[in-house]
Amino acid sequence: MMRTHRCGDLRAGDGGATVILCGWVHSRRDHGGVTFIDLRDTSGLIQVVFSQDASAPTHEAAQELRGEFCIKVSGEVRARKEGTTNPQLSTGEIEIAATSLEILSRAETPPFQVDEYQEADELLRLKYRYIDLRREKMQDNLKLRHAIISAIRRFFDAEGFLEIETPMMMRGTPEGARDYIIPSRLHPGKFYALPQSPQLFKQLFMVSGLDRYYQIVKCFRDEDLRADRQPEFTQLDLEMSFVDVDDVLDVTERMFKSIWAEVLGVHLADFPRIGYADALDRFGTDKPDLRFGMELVDLSETFATTEVRVFRSVLDSDGAVKAIVVPGKGDAGRKELDALVDEAKSLGAGGLVWIAVADDGLKSPIEKFLSDDERGALPAAAGAAPGDLILIVADANRGVVAKVLGALRGRLAERYSMIPERDRTDPEAWRFAWIVDFPWFEYNEEEKRWDFIHHPFTGIVPETLEFFESDPARVLSKSYDITLNGWELASGSIRIHDRETQRRVFGALGISPEEADERFGFLLEAFRYGVPPHGGIAPGIDRIVALAAGESNIREVIAFPKTQSAADPLTGAPAPVDDDQLKLLHLRSTAPPPPG
Ligand code: ASP
Repeated sequence: MMRTHRCGDLRAGDGGATVILCGWVHSRRDHGGVTFIDLRDTSGLIQVVFSQDASAPTHEAAQELRGEFCIKVSGEVRARKEGTTNPQLSTGEIEIAATSLEILSRAETPPFQVDEYQEADELLRLKYRYIDLRREKMQDNLKLRHAIISAIRRFFDAEGFLEIETPMMMRGTPEGARDYIIPSRLHPGKFYALPQSPQLFKQLFMVSGLDRYYQIVKCFRDEDLRADRQPEFTQLDLEMSFVDVDDVLDVTERMFKSIWAEVLGVHLADFPRIGYADALDRFGTDKPDLRFGMELVDLSETFATTEVRVFRSVLDSDGAVKAIVVPGKGDAGRKELDALVDEAKSLGAGGLVWIAVADDGLKSPIEKFLSDDERGALPAAAGAAPGDLILIVADANRGVVAKVLGALRGRLAERYSMIPERDRTDPEAWRFAWIVDFPWFEYNEEEKRWDFIHHPFTGIVPETLEFFESDPARVLSKSYDITLNGWELASGSIRIHDRETQRRVFGALGISPEEADERFGFLLEAFRYGVPPHGGIAPGIDRIVALAAGESNIREVIAFPKTQSAADPLTGAPAPVDDDQLKLLHLRSTAPPPPG
C-alpha cells in the first residue's frame, strides 16, 4: 500500500495514528529550525512538520523540498499546538510529525502558483492545464461535473431509458452551424462530418422501437465562440416515442429538479412556461433572466398622438416604441447618459431617448417636445417613480427594439448590481423557465429566404400548417427551450413523423427533392417502415455545470477546453500535417505558407 489515507480526510480523532500520505508540496515555511509544509492531494491540504526532534535525517531531507515536488511522507497525526490551529482548513486542528520522507519526483518552478488567490493569464492556464487543474476550484468544478453527470445517469436509469452511443463519423446533421469534417483515405474526395448532434440517429432509434434513449455525448459545431460556446461541447441528448410536448417537458423538468435536489440540495419550484412572443415582448429575448424585473414596457399608447418626430414616424410605420426603467438612476450624469446612447447605437438602435423622472418633472433632451398629457402620463405608463431613469428605443423594426432593450436590460442589471445576491442553496437563485410556442421559420434578411429556427425535423403545430406556403411567419413549431438565469440550457421538439410533411418542409426551406434524398434519404426511407410519434430535447452539460458552479464561462468546467479562437494551447491543435499525410487523404492545402 503506497498510502494509508488521503490528506484531507484526517481529523483530530485520528490523533496518535501513524499514517502514510502522498501528494504535492503546496507551500513551505521554515520557523526556528522546523520546516512546515502543506501537503496537497485531491481531498485537501494537511500540515506536515519536519523537526530534528522527530527525525533528524528526515528534517535534513526536507530541506530540498520545493513547491509542487511530489512526495511520500509518513509520521504521526497529532493535535496542533494551541493558538496554531487553522479553522479555514478541514484538517486545521492537526498536523503530521514526519518521521520519513521519500521524494517521488521533483518539480521545476511552475509557470504559476497552484493557489486560489493568484490569477494567471488564461492562455497560460490552458497551456499548462494539468497544473491549472491542480487548483482546488478547478477540481471542485470537475467534481461537480461528475456529480451532475452521475445524477443524470441515475435518473434516466430509474426512468427506464437506455444509454446508447451513436457514431462520431457520419453524414452532416443540420443544426444550423458549419460541420467539422474528416477526409476519407479509402474514399477519395469524400468526407465524414463530426456530429453537430446525434439528431438523426436518435430519431432512427425511435423507428427501431428503442423508445426511451439518452446519451451524454460530444457534439461539434464550427461557429463563432462565446462564453457559453465551444467547438466541441457535451450534450445530454434524449428522445422518446409515443409522446407529445407535455411528456418531454415533464421528464426533463423532473430531471433538473432531481439534479438540483441531489447535487445542490435545492428544491426547485415548477418551471413557468413563457410563450416565445411574450418573452420577446417582456424581456426582449428568448432567454430571459427572471432574477430581476425591469421588463420592457410598450409606450405606443402613451405616444399615440405624439408630435415627437422619431416616435411619430415609427408609430406610423407600425414599429415599436418601448422602454425599460432603471430604478434610482435618474441622477445619472451627462457622460453616463451619452455612453448609454452610444451603447444602444452599437447594439443596432438608431438612437436612445433617456428621460429622468425628478420630483419636479421630467428631464430629457426631448422634454420640450412632449405635450402636457404625455408629460403627465409617461411615468405611470412606464412604471417609473421619481429618481428613476426611463430609456426608450423606437424603431420601425420591432425586432431591433427587442434586441436593443433586451441586451441593455441584461447589461444594466449586471452593471448596477440589480440581481439580488443569493446563496446557491436558495431556490430563488435558480430561475428556470420553459420557452414555448416558437415560430417554425425565421426570415434570413441577408439571404432573402426563410430559415428554420430549431432544425428541419421539428414538428409543426397542426393548426398553423395551413400557413406553410402562404405566410411562413405564422407557422408555429412544437419546440421548446429551457432557460436559466439568462442562459439557454436546452432545446428540443416533437418531430415531424411523416414523410410528406418532412418533404414539404424541405421544399419550404428551398431544399429540392433531389437534395433532400441525397442528404436525408436514409431518414425519409426509414419513415416508410412505421414511425412512432416522437420527440426529445438536448440540454447542454457544460452550461448546466457552469451555472451550478457559479462560473460565467463554460471553459471553467471543461477539463481541456479550446480558446476563443478554437485552438488548444496545450497540444498546439490545430496543427499542420505533412504532405504525405495529405496526399494519402487526397488533399492539397491552399492555405498560404506560414510566414518566416
Ligand atoms: N438536436 C437538437 C440540438 O442539438 C436537440 C433536439 O432537438 O433534441 O439542439
